[in-house]
Amino acid sequence: MEIKSGIAVSPGIAIAKSMIIDSEDYRIPRRSINPSQRKVEIQRAREAFENAISELTKLQARQDATLTGIEQRQIRDIFAVHLRFLHDRSLRKKITDLIHTESVTAVYAVSKTLREIASHFTRVKDPYISERAADIYDIERRLLAQLLGSRREDIEHLTEEVVVVARELSPTQTAGFNKDFVKGIAADAGGRTSHAAIVARSLGIPAVVAMEDLTESISGSDTVIIDGNHGIVIVNPDSKTIAQYEGYSREFVELERKLDAIKKKPAVTRDGVKVTLLGNIEFPEEAEIVLQKGGEGIGLYRTEFLYLNRPSEPTEQDHYTAYAETIGAFKHRPVTIRTMDLGADKYTQSKRFVPEPNPFLGLRSIRFCLKNLAVFKTQLHAILRASVLGEVKIMFPLITNLQELMQAKMILRDVMEDLDEASIAYNKHVEVGIMIETPSAALTACSLARDVDFFSIGTNDLTQYTLAVDRGNELVSTLYSSADPAVLRLIRTVIQDAHKAQIDLSVCGEMASEPQYIILLLGMGVRTVSVAAPMIPEIKQIIRSVTMEECNKVARKILGMNSERQISNYLRDTARKVMPEAF
Ligand code: PEP
Ligand code: MG
Repeated sequence: MEIKSGIAVSPGIAIAKSMIIDSEDYRIPRRSINPSQRKVEIQRAREAFENAISELTKLQARQDATLTGIEQRQIRDIFAVHLRFLHDRSLRKKITDLIHTESVTAVYAVSKTLREIASHFTRVKDPYISERAADIYDIERRLLAQLLGSRREDIEHLTEEVVVVARELSPTQTAGFNKDFVKGIAADAGGRTSHAAIVARSLGIPAVVAMEDLTESISGSDTVIIDGNHGIVIVNPDSKTIAQYEGYSREFVELERKLDAIKKKPAVTRDGVKVTLLGNIEFPEEAEIVLQKGGEGIGLYRTEFLYLNRPSEPTEQDHYTAYAETIGAFKHRPVTIRTMDLGADKYTQSKRFVPEPNPFLGLRSIRFCLKNLAVFKTQLHAILRASVLGEVKIMFPLITNLQELMQAKMILRDVMEDLDEASIAYNKHVEVGIMIETPSAALTACSLARDVDFFSIGTNDLTQYTLAVDRGNELVSTLYSSADPAVLRLIRTVIQDAHKAQIDLSVCGEMASEPQYIILLLGMGVRTVSVAAPMIPEIKQIIRSVTMEECNKVARKILGMNSERQISNYLRDTARKVMPEAF
């Protein structure tokens, strides 16, 4: 039995056999196999080579037919080099020897051998040879695609419950998991607000990230316990531990059942202050879950997920259908549609020939939309068409300055004019707001407030950009905290500026979904929060257990503190007193 800890990102307990998923883009972890499996792995490696050769040969024939002259020669040369490597007997022998002598998987042996050769090439002074390293990585990717392809199929056609273990999961991969079979998730990489973590939370799958080297010490079909409440993963637990965690799991389910009882009750503090409790969604089907959990509307619809679970770009009708379905669940309640927040860890990098060096600071979100007007207009067209179906609000993400906001609004007006010309109905008074998720937006909130109907504070990115800490990087995850005094000061500024300008304000970042923060946010003046659907009952229970006077006192005390550690401890202690079961 081995107990490892990471960061708890999605609550609940899971106990099941592990299924390890590899990713082509990352170093493949060393994984030992039973010596009896070596033959199978050697055969898998051989087949991967044969399939890669036939794939490349077909590709070569197709290219030969379409290209001419110099281009053709260059591409033919590249194919020839790759094929030569794939036919190289000594390379294959190295790989099969490695599987045989060290009892490792074919995936690991291929990756390790090719990466060693590539790194050897990189060190050679002759630029012709050092550039060949890129070819080797390419060959590695091709072979891994062959070897991992079947694994991907497996995850799509599960027939028994598993716990998924991976080096890193993308939001797209996570969104594709079938909740009926994927009972838990553990990843080596990631942080509390990485998008894969957010998706796991939305799906209600217990998850722990930042496990560092879990994938290296686990084999497929090991029994694994995921404790998504405390950030613990136990590999091959003994029977006593399994029984103990089965007990915790029953308690957790019982708590959820108890909380479900308040789903119809309002989110009102003990002294009668009403709080609006909305839900965050990534897919239209989740709107129904928000409703079931007692949410009063959608405060954040992450529409970029429309791009992440399909092979081609969504059409205007695809957008419209998704919005109409969401609005259908909340006819007379607000549905805040955030325009696509593509880029950074979502979608665009894999489409680029050369990925951006700093994607979180790059062509992301509203910046991407303002550079890809046709795509942006398609979405706005669909949102406006859907605006007559309910109480739709439009929200622009990652605004950093007034000019960007003005440009986005101008495009929206253009689309409105197009609809007017085509006599298509839309709500001419649709509310338009922005996410405040960059320090620059927070610091200029008073001027931005004049041109919008509402703000929603995106604490996930606001924390990342204020503290210069990558929200998805486990190496710096201990530095990532929304309880940092710098983050809290910015949040306070935004709340004050929104109140002064008399515009609506909500918090939709994960901070609002975490029980320890809700009392502070209320005390700072927040009256609307949007949280992950499974967290709605818990957050409501805390709201219903406190008075505004108590919240104000907590906020006053916290805003006088200047250490993140002190603030975190105080918040945790306070929330624990209010709702001990949540901790
Ligand atoms: C945020 O940044 O807080 C937010 C809600 O947006 P996302 O998590 O989708 O970046
Ligand atoms: Mg964000």
